[in-house]
Amino acid sequence: MTGQSKESHEAGGRRGECVVMKFGGTSVEDATAIRRVSQLVKRRLRHPPVVVVSALGGVTDQLLNAAKSAAGSRLESAREVVRHLRQRHQTVASELVEKQQYECLWAELEPAFDMLDSLLDEIAAAGALLPQVQDRFLGVGEYLSSKVLHAALLRAGFDVTWVDSKQCLVTDEVHTHATPLWEETTERVRTVLLPLLHSGQVPVLGGFVGATRDGVPTTLGRGGSDCSAATIGVVLNARRIEIWTDVDGVMTTDPDLCAEAIRITSMSFNEAAELAHFGAKVLHPATIAPAMQHNIPVWVLNSRNSESGGTEITAHTRENGRVKAITTKPGVAVFEIEPSRRLRPDLLRQVFDIFERHQFSLEVLSASHSSLSLVMSAGGDLPAVAQKLGELAKVRWESHKALICLVGEKIARSPEIASQVLHAIADLEIRLICQGASERNISFVVDESRAEEAVRRLHELLFPVGARAGTHPAPAVYQPAAPARTTA
Ligand code: ASP
Ligand code: MG
Repeated sequence: MTGQSKESHEAGGRRGECVVMKFGGTSVEDATAIRRVSQLVKRRLRHPPVVVVSALGGVTDQLLNAAKSAAGSRLESAREVVRHLRQRHQTVASELVEKQQYECLWAELEPAFDMLDSLLDEIAAAGALLPQVQDRFLGVGEYLSSKVLHAALLRAGFDVTWVDSKQCLVTDEVHTHATPLWEETTERVRTVLLPLLHSGQVPVLGGFVGATRDGVPTTLGRGGSDCSAATIGVVLNARRIEIWTDVDGVMTTDPDLCAEAIRITSMSFNEAAELAHFGAKVLHPATIAPAMQHNIPVWVLNSRNSESGGTEITAHTRENGRVKAITTKPGVAVFEIEPSRRLRPDLLRQVFDIFERHQFSLEVLSASHSSLSLVMSAGGDLPAVAQKLGELAKVRWESHKALICLVGEKIARSPEIASQVLHAIADLEIRLICQGASERNISFVVDESRAEEAVRRLHELLFPVGARAGTHPAPAVYQPAAPARTTA
Protein backbone atom coordinates (compact mmCIF):
# COMPACT_ATOMS: atom_id res chain seq x y z
CA MET A 1 0.00 0.00 0.00
CA THR A 2 1.25 3.48 -0.62
CA GLY A 3 1.52 6.36 1.80
CA GLN A 4 0.16 4.64 4.86
CA SER A 5 0.44 6.59 8.10
CA LYS A 6 0.84 5.22 11.57
CA GLU A 7 -1.82 7.53 12.88
CA SER A 8 -4.53 6.24 10.60
CA HIS A 9 -3.54 2.71 11.48
CA GLU A 10 -3.84 3.28 15.20
CA ALA A 11 -7.24 4.85 14.78
CA GLY A 12 -8.35 1.34 13.77
CA GLY A 13 -8.86 0.46 17.39
CA ARG A 14 -7.75 -2.41 19.56
CA ARG A 15 -6.22 -5.52 18.06
CA GLY A 16 -8.50 -8.47 18.06
CA GLU A 17 -11.78 -6.99 16.96
CA CYS A 18 -12.16 -9.01 13.82
CA VAL A 19 -10.69 -11.84 11.81
CA VAL A 20 -10.34 -11.49 8.07
CA MET A 21 -11.07 -14.81 6.35
CA LYS A 22 -9.97 -15.04 2.74
CA PHE A 23 -11.12 -18.02 0.70
CA GLY A 24 -9.18 -18.87 -2.44
CA GLY A 25 -10.71 -20.27 -5.62
CA THR A 26 -10.35 -23.93 -4.61
CA SER A 27 -12.18 -23.22 -1.35
CA VAL A 28 -15.24 -22.11 -3.32
CA GLU A 29 -14.95 -24.26 -6.43
CA ASP A 30 -18.39 -25.88 -6.12
CA ALA A 31 -21.45 -26.09 -3.88
CA THR A 32 -19.83 -28.63 -1.54
CA ALA A 33 -16.80 -26.42 -1.07
CA ILE A 34 -19.00 -23.37 -0.42
CA ARG A 35 -20.96 -25.28 2.22
CA ARG A 36 -17.67 -26.05 3.93
CA VAL A 37 -16.84 -22.34 3.87
CA SER A 38 -20.13 -21.62 5.54
CA GLN A 39 -19.19 -24.00 8.38
CA LEU A 40 -15.84 -22.30 8.76
CA VAL A 41 -17.42 -18.85 8.90
CA LYS A 42 -19.84 -20.12 11.53
CA ARG A 43 -16.91 -20.98 13.80
CA ARG A 44 -15.66 -17.42 13.67
CA LEU A 45 -18.93 -15.59 14.28
CA ARG A 46 -17.98 -14.34 17.71
CA HIS A 47 -14.82 -12.58 16.48
CA PRO A 48 -16.50 -11.28 14.12
CA PRO A 49 -15.29 -12.27 10.63
CA VAL A 50 -14.90 -10.24 7.46
CA VAL A 51 -15.13 -12.61 4.49
CA VAL A 52 -13.08 -12.00 1.34
CA VAL A 53 -13.45 -14.40 -1.56
CA SER A 54 -11.68 -15.21 -4.84
CA ALA A 55 -13.51 -16.18 -8.01
CA LEU A 56 -14.60 -19.84 -8.18
CA GLY A 57 -11.57 -22.05 -8.92
CA GLY A 58 -10.24 -21.57 -12.43
CA VAL A 59 -12.66 -18.78 -13.35
CA THR A 60 -10.11 -15.97 -13.62
CA ASP A 61 -7.98 -18.03 -16.01
CA GLN A 62 -11.03 -18.83 -18.11
CA LEU A 63 -12.13 -15.21 -18.21
CA LEU A 64 -8.66 -14.15 -19.26
CA ASN A 65 -8.60 -16.77 -22.00
CA ALA A 66 -11.99 -15.67 -23.25
CA ALA A 67 -10.92 -12.03 -23.35
CA LYS A 68 -7.75 -12.94 -25.23
CA SER A 69 -9.71 -15.06 -27.69
CA ALA A 70 -12.03 -12.15 -28.39
CA ALA A 71 -9.05 -9.87 -28.94
CA GLY A 72 -7.62 -12.43 -31.36
CA SER A 73 -10.88 -12.57 -33.38
CA ARG A 74 -11.98 -15.91 -31.95
CA LEU A 75 -15.21 -14.43 -30.68
CA GLU A 76 -17.18 -17.65 -30.90
CA SER A 77 -14.82 -19.61 -28.66
CA ALA A 78 -14.81 -16.65 -26.25
CA ARG A 79 -18.61 -16.74 -26.10
CA GLU A 80 -18.48 -20.46 -25.46
CA VAL A 81 -16.34 -19.86 -22.36
CA VAL A 82 -18.84 -17.33 -21.03
CA ARG A 83 -21.72 -19.74 -21.72
CA HIS A 84 -19.88 -22.40 -19.78
CA LEU A 85 -19.27 -20.02 -16.86
CA ARG A 86 -22.92 -19.00 -16.86
CA GLN A 87 -23.90 -22.64 -16.66
CA ARG A 88 -21.41 -23.40 -13.88
CA HIS A 89 -22.58 -20.51 -11.70
CA GLN A 90 -26.19 -21.45 -12.33
CA THR A 91 -25.52 -25.01 -11.18
CA VAL A 92 -23.60 -23.98 -8.07
CA ALA A 93 -26.18 -21.35 -7.11
CA SER A 94 -29.13 -23.68 -7.61
CA GLU A 95 -27.48 -26.37 -5.49
CA LEU A 96 -26.92 -23.93 -2.65
CA VAL A 97 -30.19 -22.05 -2.24
CA GLU A 98 -33.94 -22.66 -2.46
CA LYS A 99 -35.90 -21.81 -5.58
CA GLN A 100 -37.18 -18.43 -4.45
CA GLN A 101 -33.78 -17.24 -3.22
CA TYR A 102 -32.26 -18.59 -6.43
CA GLU A 103 -34.54 -16.34 -8.49
CA CYS A 104 -33.34 -13.28 -6.56
CA LEU A 105 -29.70 -14.35 -6.78
CA TRP A 106 -29.92 -15.07 -10.49
CA ALA A 107 -31.46 -11.65 -11.07
CA GLU A 108 -28.17 -10.25 -9.74
CA LEU A 109 -25.86 -12.65 -11.57
CA GLU A 110 -27.46 -12.63 -15.00
CA PRO A 111 -26.67 -8.97 -15.82
CA ALA A 112 -23.00 -9.72 -15.08
CA PHE A 113 -22.97 -12.42 -17.78
CA ASP A 114 -24.71 -10.04 -20.18
CA MET A 115 -22.00 -7.52 -19.41
CA LEU A 116 -19.31 -10.13 -20.15
CA ASP A 117 -20.94 -10.75 -23.53
CA SER A 118 -21.04 -7.10 -24.43
CA LEU A 119 -17.46 -6.59 -23.25
CA LEU A 120 -16.44 -9.45 -25.56
CA ASP A 121 -17.98 -7.51 -28.45
CA GLU A 122 -16.08 -4.42 -27.36
CA ILE A 123 -12.79 -6.33 -27.13
CA ALA A 124 -13.35 -8.00 -30.52
CA ALA A 125 -14.15 -4.64 -32.13
CA ALA A 126 -10.99 -3.10 -30.66
CA GLY A 127 -8.94 -6.15 -31.71
CA ALA A 128 -7.01 -5.80 -28.47
CA LEU A 129 -7.47 -6.34 -24.77
CA LEU A 130 -6.89 -2.97 -23.15
CA PRO A 131 -5.83 -3.07 -19.48
CA GLN A 132 -8.90 -1.10 -18.36
CA VAL A 133 -11.22 -3.51 -20.15
CA GLN A 134 -9.34 -6.51 -18.80
CA ASP A 135 -9.95 -5.24 -15.26
CA ARG A 136 -13.67 -4.84 -15.84
CA PHE A 137 -13.83 -8.27 -17.42
CA LEU A 138 -11.79 -10.25 -14.86
CA GLY A 139 -13.36 -8.50 -11.90
CA VAL A 140 -16.67 -10.14 -12.76
CA GLY A 141 -15.33 -13.46 -11.40
CA GLU A 142 -15.13 -12.06 -7.88
CA TYR A 143 -18.47 -10.27 -8.22
CA LEU A 144 -20.11 -13.60 -9.03
CA SER A 145 -18.36 -15.65 -6.32
CA SER A 146 -19.04 -13.06 -3.62
CA LYS A 147 -22.74 -12.90 -4.56
CA VAL A 148 -23.01 -16.70 -4.52
CA LEU A 149 -21.18 -17.02 -1.20
CA HIS A 150 -23.30 -14.24 0.28
CA ALA A 151 -26.46 -16.10 -0.75
CA ALA A 152 -25.13 -19.35 0.72
CA LEU A 153 -24.32 -17.67 4.04
CA LEU A 154 -27.76 -16.04 4.11
CA ARG A 155 -29.29 -19.42 3.47
CA ALA A 156 -27.26 -20.84 6.38
CA GLY A 157 -28.95 -18.24 8.56
CA PHE A 158 -26.11 -15.77 9.13
CA ASP A 159 -26.57 -12.05 9.30
CA VAL A 160 -24.47 -11.22 6.23
CA THR A 161 -24.13 -8.19 3.99
CA TRP A 162 -22.64 -8.19 0.52
CA VAL A 163 -20.19 -5.34 0.06
CA ASP A 164 -18.96 -3.97 -3.26
CA SER A 165 -15.13 -4.10 -3.13
CA LYS A 166 -15.03 -1.19 -5.55
CA GLN A 167 -16.51 0.91 -2.75
CA CYS A 168 -13.78 -0.18 -0.32
CA LEU A 169 -10.47 -0.59 -2.10
CA VAL A 170 -9.41 2.69 -3.67
CA THR A 171 -6.39 2.07 -5.87
CA ASP A 172 -3.97 3.86 -8.15
CA GLU A 173 -4.59 3.72 -11.89
CA VAL A 174 -2.12 0.99 -12.76
CA HIS A 175 -4.67 -1.27 -14.44
CA THR A 176 -4.17 -5.05 -14.01
CA HIS A 177 -1.62 -4.41 -11.21
CA ALA A 178 -3.20 -1.70 -9.10
CA THR A 179 -2.10 -0.87 -5.55
CA PRO A 180 -4.52 0.26 -2.86
CA LEU A 181 -4.11 3.90 -1.76
CA TRP A 182 -3.79 3.86 1.98
CA GLU A 183 -5.63 6.99 3.09
CA GLU A 184 -8.63 6.67 0.83
CA THR A 185 -8.91 2.93 1.41
CA THR A 186 -8.69 3.33 5.18
CA GLU A 187 -11.43 5.90 5.14
CA ARG A 188 -13.70 3.82 2.88
CA VAL A 189 -13.11 0.50 4.61
CA ARG A 190 -13.92 2.07 7.96
CA THR A 191 -16.97 3.90 6.68
CA VAL A 192 -18.38 0.85 4.97
CA LEU A 193 -17.27 -2.09 7.13
CA LEU A 194 -17.16 -0.79 10.71
CA PRO A 195 -20.90 -0.01 10.99
CA LEU A 196 -21.65 -3.49 9.67
CA LEU A 197 -19.31 -5.13 12.16
CA HIS A 198 -20.67 -3.04 15.01
CA SER A 199 -24.20 -4.07 14.18
CA GLY A 200 -23.21 -7.75 14.17
CA GLN A 201 -23.24 -8.29 10.42
CA VAL A 202 -20.73 -10.37 8.51
CA PRO A 203 -19.45 -8.43 5.48
CA VAL A 204 -18.76 -10.55 2.38
CA LEU A 205 -16.76 -9.05 -0.45
CA GLY A 206 -14.87 -10.13 -3.54
CA GLY A 207 -11.08 -9.96 -3.40
CA PHE A 208 -8.78 -8.87 -6.24
CA VAL A 209 -11.00 -5.94 -7.26
CA GLY A 210 -10.85 -2.24 -6.48
CA ALA A 211 -11.56 1.05 -8.21
CA THR A 212 -9.67 4.27 -8.82
CA ARG A 213 -10.64 7.50 -7.07
CA ASP A 214 -12.92 8.13 -10.03
CA GLY A 215 -14.61 4.77 -9.61
CA VAL A 216 -13.00 3.04 -12.61
CA PRO A 217 -12.66 -0.69 -11.81
CA THR A 218 -9.14 -2.05 -11.28
CA THR A 219 -7.59 -5.37 -10.24
CA LEU A 220 -4.65 -5.95 -7.92
CA GLY A 221 -2.72 -8.46 -10.06
CA ARG A 222 -3.13 -12.24 -10.25
CA GLY A 223 -3.53 -13.80 -6.83
CA GLY A 224 -4.51 -10.34 -5.56
CA SER A 225 -7.29 -11.49 -3.22
CA ASP A 226 -4.62 -12.12 -0.60
CA CYS A 227 -3.69 -8.48 -0.94
CA SER A 228 -7.33 -7.39 -0.54
CA ALA A 229 -7.57 -9.45 2.63
CA ALA A 230 -4.30 -8.10 4.01
CA THR A 231 -5.29 -4.51 3.24
CA ILE A 232 -8.62 -4.87 5.00
CA GLY A 233 -6.95 -6.71 7.88
CA VAL A 234 -4.44 -3.93 8.35
CA VAL A 235 -7.01 -1.14 8.10
CA LEU A 236 -9.27 -2.83 10.65
CA ASN A 237 -6.29 -3.81 12.79
CA ALA A 238 -7.56 -7.37 12.69
CA ARG A 239 -6.71 -10.00 15.24
CA ARG A 240 -5.43 -12.11 12.35
CA ILE A 241 -5.72 -12.67 8.62
CA GLU A 242 -6.66 -16.19 7.58
CA ILE A 243 -5.79 -17.39 4.08
CA TRP A 244 -7.93 -20.47 3.43
CA THR A 245 -6.61 -22.66 0.66
CA ASP A 246 -6.37 -26.34 -0.31
CA VAL A 247 -3.16 -27.34 1.46
CA ASP A 248 -2.60 -27.97 5.16
CA GLY A 249 -0.39 -24.91 5.49
CA VAL A 250 3.08 -24.00 4.39
CA MET A 251 4.95 -27.27 3.94
CA THR A 252 8.56 -28.20 4.70
CA THR A 253 9.00 -28.91 0.99
CA ASP A 254 6.95 -29.51 -2.12
CA PRO A 255 4.84 -32.63 -1.35
CA ASP A 256 4.96 -33.53 -5.04
CA LEU A 257 8.73 -33.91 -4.78
CA CYS A 258 8.84 -35.50 -1.37
CA ALA A 259 5.88 -37.34 0.10
CA GLU A 260 7.37 -36.94 3.57
CA ALA A 261 6.77 -33.17 3.51
CA ILE A 262 5.06 -31.93 6.65
CA ARG A 263 3.26 -28.78 7.70
CA ILE A 264 5.31 -26.00 9.26
CA THR A 265 3.43 -24.94 12.39
CA SER A 266 4.89 -21.47 12.71
CA MET A 267 7.28 -19.27 10.85
CA SER A 268 8.33 -15.64 10.56
CA PHE A 269 7.27 -13.17 7.89
CA ASN A 270 10.88 -13.03 6.76
CA GLU A 271 11.03 -16.78 6.32
CA ALA A 272 7.76 -16.70 4.38
CA ALA A 273 9.07 -13.92 2.14
CA GLU A 274 12.28 -15.86 1.54
CA LEU A 275 10.30 -18.98 0.63
CA ALA A 276 8.05 -17.02 -1.71
CA HIS A 277 11.12 -15.60 -3.42
CA PHE A 278 12.66 -19.03 -3.93
CA GLY A 279 9.64 -20.45 -5.63
CA ALA A 280 7.48 -21.91 -2.88
CA LYS A 281 3.80 -21.23 -3.44
CA VAL A 282 3.16 -19.70 -0.05
CA LEU A 283 1.48 -16.35 -0.16
CA HIS A 284 1.21 -13.49 -2.57
CA PRO A 285 4.20 -11.27 -1.61
CA ALA A 286 1.80 -8.31 -1.38
CA THR A 287 0.12 -10.04 1.57
CA ILE A 288 3.26 -10.51 3.51
CA ALA A 289 4.39 -6.89 3.24
CA PRO A 290 1.47 -5.00 4.85
CA ALA A 291 0.76 -7.70 7.43
CA MET A 292 4.44 -7.76 8.34
CA GLN A 293 4.63 -3.99 8.59
CA HIS A 294 1.70 -3.94 11.01
CA ASN A 295 2.55 -7.18 12.72
CA ILE A 296 -0.78 -8.86 12.09
CA PRO A 297 -0.50 -12.65 12.24
CA VAL A 298 -1.31 -14.44 8.99
CA TRP A 299 -2.55 -18.02 9.03
CA VAL A 300 -2.48 -20.36 6.05
CA LEU A 301 -5.25 -22.92 6.51
CA ASN A 302 -6.86 -25.78 4.62
CA SER A 303 -10.58 -25.37 4.00
CA ARG A 304 -10.85 -29.09 3.19
CA ASN A 305 -9.07 -30.14 6.36
CA SER A 306 -9.61 -27.41 8.90
CA GLU A 307 -8.46 -29.62 11.77
CA SER A 308 -4.93 -29.77 10.40
CA GLY A 309 -4.02 -26.60 12.25
CA GLY A 310 -2.38 -24.60 9.46
CA THR A 311 0.70 -22.42 9.59
CA GLU A 312 0.98 -19.28 11.67
CA ILE A 313 3.15 -16.54 10.24
CA THR A 314 4.21 -13.83 12.67
CA ALA A 315 6.99 -11.29 13.11
CA HIS A 316 9.06 -13.54 15.33
CA THR A 317 9.56 -17.23 15.36
CA ARG A 318 10.33 -19.24 18.44
CA GLU A 319 12.71 -21.55 16.69
CA ASN A 320 15.81 -19.77 15.40
CA GLY A 321 18.73 -21.60 13.86
CA ARG A 322 16.58 -24.41 12.53
CA VAL A 323 15.85 -25.18 8.89
CA LYS A 324 12.12 -24.65 8.29
CA ALA A 325 11.83 -25.52 4.65
CA ILE A 326 13.63 -26.74 1.57
CA THR A 327 12.79 -25.27 -1.81
CA THR A 328 13.97 -26.09 -5.31
CA LYS A 329 13.98 -24.04 -8.43
CA PRO A 330 14.74 -26.08 -11.55
CA GLY A 331 15.84 -24.63 -14.87
CA VAL A 332 18.57 -22.38 -13.59
CA ALA A 333 21.95 -21.81 -15.20
CA VAL A 334 25.31 -21.19 -13.53
CA PHE A 335 27.76 -18.72 -15.02
CA GLU A 336 31.37 -18.31 -13.95
CA ILE A 337 32.89 -15.12 -15.17
CA GLU A 338 36.61 -14.42 -14.90
CA PRO A 339 37.87 -11.10 -16.22
CA SER A 340 41.49 -10.86 -17.28
CA ARG A 341 42.11 -8.29 -14.55
CA ARG A 342 40.44 -7.45 -11.24
CA LEU A 343 36.66 -7.34 -11.13
CA ARG A 344 35.56 -3.74 -11.78
CA PRO A 345 32.16 -2.12 -11.22
CA ASP A 346 31.74 -1.25 -14.90
CA LEU A 347 32.19 -4.91 -15.82
CA LEU A 348 29.47 -5.85 -13.33
CA ARG A 349 27.18 -3.30 -14.90
CA GLN A 350 27.82 -4.65 -18.40
CA VAL A 351 27.25 -8.23 -17.23
CA PHE A 352 23.92 -7.33 -15.64
CA ASP A 353 22.88 -5.36 -18.71
CA ILE A 354 23.38 -8.44 -20.87
CA PHE A 355 21.35 -10.61 -18.53
CA GLU A 356 18.62 -8.06 -18.32
CA ARG A 357 18.36 -7.70 -22.07
CA HIS A 358 17.88 -11.46 -22.36
CA GLN A 359 15.40 -11.56 -19.48
CA PHE A 360 17.45 -13.64 -17.10
CA SER A 361 16.93 -12.94 -13.44
CA LEU A 362 19.48 -13.25 -10.72
CA GLU A 363 18.98 -15.88 -8.03
CA VAL A 364 22.35 -16.09 -6.30
CA LEU A 365 25.63 -14.34 -6.75
CA SER A 366 29.00 -14.96 -5.24
CA ALA A 367 32.03 -12.86 -6.05
CA SER A 368 35.72 -12.61 -5.26
CA HIS A 369 38.21 -9.99 -6.37
CA SER A 370 38.87 -11.90 -9.57
CA SER A 371 35.76 -13.86 -10.42
CA LEU A 372 32.03 -13.88 -10.32
CA SER A 373 29.62 -16.82 -10.08
CA LEU A 374 25.98 -16.30 -10.78
CA VAL A 375 22.92 -18.50 -10.68
CA MET A 376 20.34 -17.15 -13.08
CA SER A 377 16.86 -18.36 -13.77
CA ALA A 378 16.77 -19.08 -17.41
CA GLY A 379 15.28 -16.46 -19.67
CA GLY A 380 15.97 -16.37 -23.40
CA ASP A 381 18.84 -17.59 -25.49
CA LEU A 382 21.65 -19.03 -23.31
CA PRO A 383 24.37 -19.41 -25.97
CA ALA A 384 23.74 -15.86 -27.15
CA VAL A 385 24.16 -14.56 -23.61
CA ALA A 386 27.32 -16.60 -23.16
CA GLN A 387 28.72 -15.23 -26.38
CA LYS A 388 28.03 -11.63 -25.32
CA LEU A 389 29.59 -12.26 -21.92
CA GLY A 390 32.55 -13.89 -23.67
CA GLU A 391 33.34 -10.52 -25.27
CA LEU A 392 33.94 -9.13 -21.76
CA ALA A 393 35.64 -11.95 -19.89
CA LYS A 394 36.35 -15.65 -19.76
CA VAL A 395 33.02 -17.41 -19.27
CA ARG A 396 31.98 -20.92 -18.31
CA TRP A 397 28.33 -21.82 -18.08
CA GLU A 398 26.13 -24.80 -17.40
CA SER A 399 22.40 -25.12 -17.76
CA HIS A 400 19.84 -27.68 -16.53
CA LYS A 401 20.75 -27.00 -12.95
CA ALA A 402 18.49 -26.71 -9.94
CA LEU A 403 18.86 -24.25 -7.11
CA ILE A 404 18.16 -25.75 -3.71
CA CYS A 405 17.57 -23.43 -0.78
CA LEU A 406 17.31 -24.14 2.89
CA VAL A 407 15.34 -21.46 4.67
CA GLY A 408 15.22 -20.74 8.39
CA GLU A 409 15.83 -17.77 10.66
CA LYS A 410 19.56 -17.48 11.50
CA ILE A 411 20.58 -20.77 9.88
CA ALA A 412 23.45 -19.14 8.07
CA ARG A 413 25.01 -18.56 11.49
CA SER A 414 25.10 -22.28 12.19
CA PRO A 415 28.01 -23.73 10.24
CA GLU A 416 27.07 -27.22 11.41
CA ILE A 417 23.94 -27.10 9.23
CA ALA A 418 25.97 -26.52 6.08
CA SER A 419 28.43 -29.20 7.04
CA GLN A 420 25.69 -31.78 7.74
CA VAL A 421 24.08 -30.92 4.43
CA LEU A 422 27.32 -31.26 2.50
CA HIS A 423 27.97 -34.57 4.15
CA ALA A 424 24.50 -35.91 3.32
CA ILE A 425 24.70 -35.16 -0.39
CA ALA A 426 28.43 -35.05 -1.01
CA ASP A 427 28.12 -37.56 -3.84
CA LEU A 428 25.65 -35.38 -5.79
CA GLU A 429 28.26 -32.95 -7.08
CA ILE A 430 27.15 -29.77 -5.43
CA ARG A 431 28.11 -26.68 -7.35
CA LEU A 432 28.32 -23.23 -5.84
CA ILE A 433 27.30 -22.89 -2.25
CA CYS A 434 26.11 -19.66 -0.82
CA GLN A 435 25.83 -19.24 2.90
CA GLY A 436 25.57 -16.01 4.80
CA ALA A 437 24.48 -13.61 2.07
CA SER A 438 21.16 -13.78 3.86
CA GLU A 439 20.93 -14.84 7.49
CA ARG A 440 18.07 -17.16 6.74
CA ASN A 441 19.18 -18.97 3.65
CA ILE A 442 21.78 -21.50 2.58
CA SER A 443 21.62 -22.27 -1.12
CA PHE A 444 23.47 -24.45 -3.55
CA VAL A 445 23.15 -25.84 -7.03
CA VAL A 446 22.93 -29.44 -8.24
CA ASP A 447 22.15 -31.07 -11.55
CA GLU A 448 18.46 -30.82 -12.33
CA SER A 449 18.29 -34.61 -12.60
CA ARG A 450 19.55 -35.01 -9.02
CA ALA A 451 17.40 -32.30 -7.42
CA GLU A 452 14.61 -34.56 -6.28
CA GLU A 453 17.01 -36.97 -4.69
CA ALA A 454 18.84 -34.12 -2.96
CA VAL A 455 15.59 -32.75 -1.57
CA ARG A 456 14.50 -36.16 -0.31
CA ARG A 457 17.79 -36.88 1.39
CA LEU A 458 17.95 -33.46 2.99
CA HIS A 459 14.37 -33.73 4.13
CA GLU A 460 15.16 -37.05 5.75
CA LEU A 461 18.17 -35.47 7.46
CA LEU A 462 16.52 -32.26 8.61
CA PHE A 463 13.02 -33.56 9.39
CA PRO A 464 13.60 -37.14 10.52
CA VAL A 465 10.34 -39.03 10.90
CA GLY A 466 11.10 -40.22 14.44
CA ALA A 467 11.62 -36.69 15.71
CA ARG A 468 8.30 -35.33 14.55
CA ALA A 469 5.90 -36.58 17.16
CA GLY A 470 4.53 -33.77 19.24
CA THR A 471 6.21 -31.04 17.23
CA HIS A 472 2.99 -30.02 15.51
CA PRO A 473 0.33 -29.46 18.12
CA ALA A 474 -2.99 -28.02 17.00
CA PRO A 475 -2.83 -24.29 17.75
CA ALA A 476 -5.18 -22.36 19.97
CA VAL A 477 -7.25 -21.19 17.01
CA TYR A 478 -8.73 -24.63 16.83
CA GLN A 479 -10.09 -24.73 20.30
CA PRO A 480 -13.85 -25.31 20.45
CA ALA A 481 -15.74 -23.09 18.07
CA ALA A 482 -18.04 -20.33 19.16
CA PRO A 483 -21.69 -21.20 19.41
CA ALA A 484 -23.37 -20.28 16.15
CA ARG A 485 -25.40 -17.11 16.08
CA THR A 486 -28.15 -17.62 13.59
CA THR A 487 -30.08 -14.49 13.00
CA ALA A 488 -32.22 -15.09 9.98
N1 ASP B 1 -9.13 -14.68 -8.91
C1 ASP B 1 -7.91 -13.94 -8.99
C2 ASP B 1 -6.82 -14.80 -9.60
O1 ASP B 1 -7.03 -15.97 -9.81
C3 ASP B 1 -7.48 -13.38 -7.69
C4 ASP B 1 -7.18 -14.40 -6.64
O2 ASP B 1 -7.59 -15.55 -6.75
O3 ASP B 1 -6.52 -14.04 -5.67
O4 ASP B 1 -5.76 -14.29 -9.85
MG1 MG C 1 -7.96 -17.46 -8.22
